[in-house]
Amino acid sequence: MTATLSSARVSELAAIGKARNPQLSARIDRAAQIVLAGEYQASSDPDTLIVRGYHVNGACECPDYRLGNAPIVNGTHYCKHKIAKAFVSRLSKLAECEKPNVWAQSMAWQSFARSYSK
Ligand SMILES: [Zn+2]
Repeated sequence: MTATLSSARVSELAAIGKARNPQLSARIDRAAQIVLAGEYQASSDPDTLIVRGYHVNGACECPDYRLGNAPIVNGTHYCKHKIAKAFVSRLSKLAECEKPNVWAQSMAWQSFARSYSK
């Protein structure tokens, strides 16, 4: 996954995340930097994202997560890598919604539009 993510979107998600979970603020800031720097890649498992070399799915391999230092939200520890993964999946969904009107370019729409332009 190497799609360019808009920094405005990343800041927006970071602000929402910090408002909801102030205890994660420092890690959210670091996660936003990781995402903007593109320091992540897809893995062969679609549910796993490799963030700065750590494999992240429901869990993360980093010490912050494994040693239980990362704050707990909804029953799970959130290290910066897990937050980065959450950002990436959210942003890729947003990017999908914001694609230039894919439907309007479809053949069905074009023939419909032509029938109205006559
Ligand atoms: Zn981690």
